[in-house]
Amino acid sequence: MFQAIVIRKTESGGHDAQVTALDEAQLPEGDVTVRVEYSTVNYKDGLAITGKAPVIRKYPMVPGIDLAGTVEASGDPEWKPGDHVVLNGWGVGEGHFGGLAQRARVKGGWLVPLPAPLTTRRAMAIGTAGYTAMLCVLALEKHGVRPGDGEVLVTGASGGVGSVAVALLSKLGHRVIASTGRAAESDYLRSLGAAEVIDRAQLSAPGKPLGKERWAGAVDSVGSHTLANVCATTRYRGAVAACGLAQGMDLPASVAPFILRAVTLYGIDSVMAPRPLRLEAWSRLARDLDPAKLEAMTQEITLAGAIPAAADILAGKVRGRLVVNVAR
Ligand code: NDP
Repeated sequence: MFQAIVIRKTESGGHDAQVTALDEAQLPEGDVTVRVEYSTVNYKDGLAITGKAPVIRKYPMVPGIDLAGTVEASGDPEWKPGDHVVLNGWGVGEGHFGGLAQRARVKGGWLVPLPAPLTTRRAMAIGTAGYTAMLCVLALEKHGVRPGDGEVLVTGASGGVGSVAVALLSKLGHRVIASTGRAAESDYLRSLGAAEVIDRAQLSAPGKPLGKERWAGAVDSVGSHTLANVCATTRYRGAVAACGLAQGMDLPASVAPFILRAVTLYGIDSVMAPRPLRLEAWSRLARDLDPAKLEAMTQEITLAGAIPAAADILAGKVRGRLVVNVAR
């Protein structure tokens, strides 16, 4: 038997999440069984656990879109007992039992090896949010945004994606401008490497099709008017990597930045990202994310603690990253 968060539909059609004991026989099909050591609470896990958006595709479900742990049994020749592995996305925690449990059974092709010198805890302190931040950084790099080209903006900066993006971009030598609604986190954002902190209200209201050119590149985890305004203020031939919807799923923008300033908008998806891109992202995270900054943005919680944390992350109350020690 092992402990897991299980989400069930209630008789009244509601949604209930509780720590429950499960038998290994209840795990779904898969060729690799993993002893999960750490998982996380990402924004999407917040939506899944609270039921605020239809993230869960079948019930009962174990949430947790990512996990890190040690292989216990494997029918996949690529993996053997004792291997340390990381999993992000692939519909895990949505349509297939996820990482907020002490065991998981998954497809071997979904796993990536834990890259040295990361531990399973550090990998989940990074989690899907941090891996997505790296996918955004890679998109900007491949576009040709280089340190010294100009200011790079990060929106939703105090959140998980934002905190990791600020730390990564500043370590790589960019001048990072952090946009946040939490002025009280300015010192925190500067400690991660932000050169300047701006109030997100400057970007969140309906704006003009074009504004003063400022950003050589941007990482946006917010969407809606913020993303429209970020595109409208990106410099000629600059690039924006869009990965989130914390303000909204809409994009009330005009084509002006794209056809008059040759701005490029990159869509970033972590869930179905191909394996070579995942391997590149994880090896870069192992190299380019300062472990002390990662620790400073991370809070460890218990498996049961992930349930109240789900509401907190949706309320914008979580700073940085939550790592879940599933053994506690
Ligand atoms: P967090 O909740 O940790 O961070 C989101 C941040 O957005 C908040 O901390 C806050 O930052 C800001 N924010 C919240 N509400 C609003 C609002 N109404 N208007 C403007 N800003 C707001 O979430 P994550 O970092 O885990 O995820 C960020 C986004 O990225 C989510 O939408 C998530 O779904 C998405 N995502 C997408 C992935 C993909 O594959 N495309 C993968 C991972 C995440 P502050 O307080 O600093 O203003």
